[in-house]
Amino acid sequence: MRLLCTNDDGIDAIGLSRLVEAATPLGEITVVAPDREQSATSHSLTLHHPIRPISRGERRFQVDGTPTDCVMLAVEALMPERPDFVLSGINHGQNMGEDVLYSGTVAAAMEGLSLGIPSLAFSFAGGDLRADVSMLGDQIDVLRDLLKRVLALAPFPVDTLLNINIPPLRGADIKGVRLTRLGRRVYSDSLTPMQDPWGRQIYWIGGGSIAWTGEENSDFRAVQEGYISITPLHLDLTHHAMLESSESWWPQL
Ligand code: MN
Repeated sequence: MRLLCTNDDGIDAIGLSRLVEAATPLGEITVVAPDREQSATSHSLTLHHPIRPISRGERRFQVDGTPTDCVMLAVEALMPERPDFVLSGINHGQNMGEDVLYSGTVAAAMEGLSLGIPSLAFSFAGGDLRADVSMLGDQIDVLRDLLKRVLALAPFPVDTLLNINIPPLRGADIKGVRLTRLGRRVYSDSLTPMQDPWGRQIYWIGGGSIAWTGEENSDFRAVQEGYISITPLHLDLTHHAMLESSESWWPQL
């Protein structure tokens, strides 16, 4: 089995090395990942300058581009054969609710899916991964077991990527796996006004506090309660319920 591993935190990120560690016994790993952090780059493509893969060892490349660039380059140029799965992550931080719209980690899996390859995105739902390194190391066995079961799914769900969030717990304390839907995230104070060195007004996006809302079966609730959350996502943004109720509004247009 050929597995393509990528991420959005950069090729030297701890999360990626833990993902590779968990996946190594399951297949032949190729790593194609950004040369620096590309978090929150979403599904962006580099169009205005060329991208250059640099070898970092056997089947290991860093690319001066986005996670989406990496998947496209890996599948269409660097790998002699197409991968059976794209594995993205493990992201340093959660990707739940609306996070999936900004996430480079999830976008890499979306790119895999749009190239017709079953894809999974993994995120560690802890605050700062650097502070929780030992915890992620402790989760390798749980992760490998999950990967083994997911990669053996036959058939793998069609037109679906799996967005997986791992709770910040020791492997033995993880209660199990839940199938979930996206919750809703409420950020507050995420825009900090400040002044540049010349006294002009600037703003810094980020920080603040995050609150969550969501039903019993939401991703954040699963993680909060100590479960690995698996949310099936698809790329079709069509609002199907709205289409179905079109008799009530379409005739008025
Ligand atoms: Mn990231």
